[in-house]
Amino acid sequence: MFDVAVIGAGPIGCYTAYQLADKGFDVLLLEEDDEVGRNVVCTGVIGKEAFERFNIPKDSIIAKINRLLFVSPSNIHLEYIHQDELAYVVNRYRFDKGIFQLALSRGVEVKLGEGVQDIREEGDRVVLQTDNSIYRANTAVIATGVNPAPCPTSRSKAGEGRDVMRCGVNYELQRSAGMGIVKNFLMGAQINLPEYRTYEELSTANSTVEIHTGRRIAPGSFGWVVPSNGSVRVGVMTEKNPKYWLKKFIENRLNQVISNDDGFREKPIAFGSIERSVSGRILAVGEAAGQVKTTTGGGIFYGLLGSEIAVNMLIKAIKTGNMDYLTEYEQRWRGMLEEEIFMGWHIRKLAKKIDDETLDRLFKRFKRGKFLAMRIIRRINFEYHGALLAFCLKAFGGIIK
Ligand SMILES: Cc1cc2nc3c(=O)[nH]c(=O)nc-3n(C[C@H](O)[C@H](O)[C@H](O)COP(=O)(O)OP(=O)(O)OC[C@H]3O[C@@H](n4cnc5c(N)ncnc54)[C@H](O)[C@@H]3O)c2cc1C
Repeated sequence: MFDVAVIGAGPIGCYTAYQLADKGFDVLLLEEDDEVGRNVVCTGVIGKEAFERFNIPKDSIIAKINRLLFVSPSNIHLEYIHQDELAYVVNRYRFDKGIFQLALSRGVEVKLGEGVQDIREEGDRVVLQTDNSIYRANTAVIATGVNPAPCPTSRSKAGEGRDVMRCGVNYELQRSAGMGIVKNFLMGAQINLPEYRTYEELSTANSTVEIHTGRRIAPGSFGWVVPSNGSVRVGVMTEKNPKYWLKKFIENRLNQVISNDDGFREKPIAFGSIERSVSGRILAVGEAAGQVKTTTGGGIFYGLLGSEIAVNMLIKAIKTGNMDYLTEYEQRWRGMLEEEIFMGWHIRKLAKKIDDETLDRLFKRFKRGKFLAMRIIRRINFEYHGALLAFCLKAFGGIIK
């Protein structure tokens, strides 16, 4: 019998387990994979604030970002240079492993290769069923991220894209705990490519995140190029067929030839928050609760915030025996993030309707208006985009219509 069982040893599950064990609670961490951090699909861009606020491993950092380069459909460039570091690129394997080691060092009991198949409340405890065992805990945290699930009808009439949306995502644990699901998903695809730039270009490219826009890159979304220790991580986020769009992006925009798609990795990304993140003694945190930026698909900072709030509420609930504290978790994290999540969702819906000519006009308008640019730059925040988006909606409303 544990105080808390955490399901999923991704960064958010490990960080949740670490914080709880650090406060003296008995924590069980269950991970279905045999090794932590092995099968991650992620670009690993994490804002500076996350490293200042949370005890996350700095030795996983492989690049420092202080420049953002936005590229329009017709190749107009907008550059933002931050006076110091804005964000970092991490090696996700080392990042996940580092947080996992922290959890181990605080005495978390870990079971690898133990996928949780079922979770249910029985009286004043939670019962978790894996392939091999049954575990019991006072409370439980679902931190399983977004699981791609094999689709039973992989070539249904609905078309490949909708297949993935409909049955390519497994939210069974949340569903059986009575939380509902995150209703919408985007698909991210990524590949590591050898660095392809000239020596002169490299001096800035090593600290730059490139964001490429346009319907021929990623309709309603964007493609990215991120430095990674002498190579680059190139990816796209789309509603469907991410590999197709990634290939087009690489060939048409980056002028690289991909002989086969062996190195392509893809994964769903939660787009919007879960219906309920608390059910009785069970909470969902991180991507399992939809704590993800709907603008960029970044989930680590919001997940860590969710984890911090969850831990505070779990401690109160366990110490007092009053599980009502857990519902406060839901109110608090939504109070902090829901508006951001909604704003990004709204902008993305709008972005889908914007054609390439309009996007180019927006870039030109931004380049012309020095005063406007200053007002926009003042609102740039790596983690919170709501204020910037609201301002842009007002400033560019005329062009978007
Ligand atoms: C292409 C791409 C690029 C991205 N780039 C960024 C980025 O640059 N910055 C950023 O912040 N975010 C990025 N993200 C999102 C980010 O990767 C996720 O939001 C983040 O990993 C979520 O962490 P998590 O701990 O909630 O879930 P995960 O990292 O998914 O971890 C969940 C863990 O739970 C385990 N698990 C699942 N089901 C079970 C089960 N039933 N029983 C036991 N264990 C289970 C899994 O094996 C896994 O180890 C990107 C995502 C994609 C797809």
